[in-house]
Amino acid sequence: MLPLDPQADIGRRAWIACPSCDDARGCAPCEERRTCSAHWRYLLSNTGSLLHLQCPGCTHVWVHESGFGATRSLWSRVTSGLQRR
Ligand SMILES: [Zn+2]
Ligand SMILES: [Zn+2]
Repeated sequence: MLPLDPQADIGRRAWIACPSCDDARGCAPCEERRTCSAHWRYLLSNTGSLLHLQCPGCTHVWVHESGFGATRSLWSRVTSGLQRR
């Protein structure tokens, strides 16, 4: 397992299925594409529409093409994790 990236910050989260552990399978909020309290990923950084993500469960790191502009609902879901209380 990789260590958590130093950029991993619980204040920046994204709700995107992990391609490695698929831990959200069968989870009702995830299948409805809502912001699940159990299944989320660290949003390490983003470059344009590319999101650099890390799964807190299996520590898998990957890049996700968010298609910014084409899928606004996804983007707004992703960036909702940016707002700090
Ligand atoms: Zn994972
Ligand atoms: Zn879930």
